[in-house]
Amino acid sequence: MYDIIIVGAGPAGLTAALYAGRANKKVLVLEGKTYGGQIINSMRIDNYPGIPNVSGFDFATNLYQQVKDVGVEIHMEAVLKIDEDLKVYTAQHEYQGKTIILATGVESRKLGLEKEDFLLGKGISYCATCDGAFFKGKNVAVYGGGNTALEDAIYLSHLANKVFLILRRDQFRGEERLVQEVKNKNNIEIVYQSMITELFGNDTLEGIEIESNHQKRKIDIEGLFVAIGKVPNNEMFSNVVSLTPEGYIASSDGIHTSHPKIYVAGDTRDKELRQLTTAVADGAMAATKAIKEWED
Ligand code: NAP
Repeated sequence: MYDIIIVGAGPAGLTAALYAGRANKKVLVLEGKTYGGQIINSMRIDNYPGIPNVSGFDFATNLYQQVKDVGVEIHMEAVLKIDEDLKVYTAQHEYQGKTIILATGVESRKLGLEKEDFLLGKGISYCATCDGAFFKGKNVAVYGGGNTALEDAIYLSHLANKVFLILRRDQFRGEERLVQEVKNKNNIEIVYQSMITELFGNDTLEGIEIESNHQKRKIDIEGLFVAIGKVPNNEMFSNVVSLTPEGYIASSDGIHTSHPKIYVAGDTRDKELRQLTTAVADGAMAATKAIKEWED
């Protein structure tokens, strides 16, 4: 029996674990992929107060170690199901919690184009820092206009021959500082008001078709980095907590869910600002409330 089972080892889940571990609770963190969540793919974090210019990998690794050091158990097992009485099922085990914190984050939104799944890992990637090195000296494209796309384009500009940065609107959604950095790179070409409509390549990616103002054209590239936002993946929890129409975990106050003993933290909840700072704040709040409200 665990006092708190935390699902997800991103910044929100690990911060919740840190707070609960420091309160001497018996805590289990379950994670299906690797620790760190999305931040592990960030080359440089510059907006976390007090720690300027830290890499996502270093930040996540320090946090993971900090959590281990307070005695929290972290098991790399994907959660398959949770039931009403707080039994948590993975492929390997069944765990019982007194309370649960859902901190499952979000996943990359897919293009929804034919050949996307087939070309994944053969030219298409959702993570520039993971796969960028495969495209040294080649022509690549980044799709999206948010901070992820801007950071990916900057990162790839140091490796690739040329980077096309393709976005659907005539302006970026991401930070102005990053937009200026992109505009100052000689090997980044910004392609505004364009949508990717087709993927080419029988074995590996050879090019894409883009549509701009009803005109179609082909761009020859070997790598495509998709950065068109994130989507939640919470369907498996819909038997125990209410979801919003978009699939985020509904919460009236950003901490509680529709189940009295299940709490939520981080990007997976319905919220306005999805940032590292708000994720760790959520984690601290969720753990503190779970401890306070269900103390023996
Ligand atoms: P995002 O900010 O939601 O941006 C998504 C981009 O993809 C937007 O340009 C959007 O266009 C476009 N898009 C969405 N759906 C599309 C579709 N179906 N087809 C074509 N384009 C589409 O996502 P993100 O960049 O992944 O960032 C997610 C969150 O993490 C944000 O809050 C971001 O600020 C944060 N983040 C922060 C940092 C940092 O602070 N260093 C780094 C990375 C991410 P529209 O603008 O037209 O909607």
